[in-house]
Amino acid sequence: MSTATETIGYACPSWCERPDHEADDLGLGDVPYHYGPTFGAFIGVMTPGAQQPLGTLDDENRDDRRASDFRQLAVDAVAAAEWLEAQA
Ligand SMILES: [Zn+2]
Repeated sequence: MSTATETIGYACPSWCERPDHEADDLGLGDVPYHYGPTFGAFIGVMTPGAQQPLGTLDDENRDDRRASDFRQLAVDAVAAAEWLEAQA
């Protein structure tokens, strides 16, 4: 009886900035999350598999925002939208 080892295959899309998926804890049949650029403090790109990239908005501290914080978020959101559109 032989012992078989399973290798999880994946191919990073060109925009993946963290291609070290060997460290990912994936189950058989799961796909890794690919990570693209970040835009400011709260916007990033994280997509399972090698499909079209999708943005994420991560703001755990939703209170106590000033007008300048919202202006920066708007600038970051426009940059993220332009990057996503450029990948289409
Ligand atoms: Zn990747």
